[in-house]
Amino acid sequence: MIDYHVHTYLCRHALGEPRDYVDVALKKGLKEIGIADHFPLELMGITPKAKVSMDADELELYFRMVREASRTGGITVKTGIELDYAPGKMEKLATVLKDYPFDYIIGSVHFMGDWDFTHPYSAGEFEKRPIEEVYEQYFTLVCGACRSGLIDIIGHIDVVKKFNYRPSEKFLQPWYEKLAKLLRETGVCLELNTSGLDMPAGEFYPAPALLSRCIDEGVNIVLGSDAHTPEDVGRHFPLAMDMLREMGVRETVVFSRRKGVLQPLE
Ligand code: ZN
Ligand code: FE
Ligand code: FE
Ligand code: ZN
Repeated sequence: MIDYHVHTYLCRHALGEPRDYVDVALKKGLKEIGIADHFPLELMGITPKAKVSMDADELELYFRMVREASRTGGITVKTGIELDYAPGKMEKLATVLKDYPFDYIIGSVHFMGDWDFTHPYSAGEFEKRPIEEVYEQYFTLVCGACRSGLIDIIGHIDVVKKFNYRPSEKFLQPWYEKLAKLLRETGVCLELNTSGLDMPAGEFYPAPALLSRCIDEGVNIVLGSDAHTPEDVGRHFPLAMDMLREMGVRETVVFSRRKGVLQPLE
């Protein structure tokens, strides 16, 4: 099993250093782990109300800590990053990102304008906005992230359901169709993010219907726990693996320096 989505204390809303996450991964028998902390928002010209990512000048420390953690042995450790998608902020990023030897980039949508909609303090906003408009806006941003050409993996693709505000299946179905086709066309991998099961949504990201639609389309899948505390590494992975096997998934992707290679799922 491989966990490609864990954070570190550098983002100010997670605990532990890379080595703490690596230790738990070893104990849980994972054969590979990728640290994917939040990319500095300041390098994108974004200043949220609360600080939720490392400083730009901490990127070097980040790489150094991951490199040191990888010396633990017995497990492969990769350096990923979780990059926010914000329209109009991505143009200059391609050159910035090339300066850093990331193994993979997870693209995620956490903001709709100024609204940090995955943060509990702003969940009340879901009561105020028409739910279909919220989803429309969110999935449109996800499409932008997939088309940006900057990312290898789309993170928690339907995290907009986190607080369990949901539109009808009838509304969702065409979006699932569109997203599955877009992932196939762009070659962006889908993350099965197990953190959603511990949130009010009560299920993985993506929802089973979207996951199976993507699998039908031949989209490649990677696993991520989105651990913000070391003990959450690999959370619910046995369940996730069962689900993937049942849906006919036999392979996952391992990344090195932005190149993905298929590997048997085990
Ligand atoms: Zn986070
Ligand atoms: Fe995220
Ligand atoms: Fe994350
Ligand atoms: Zn995340």
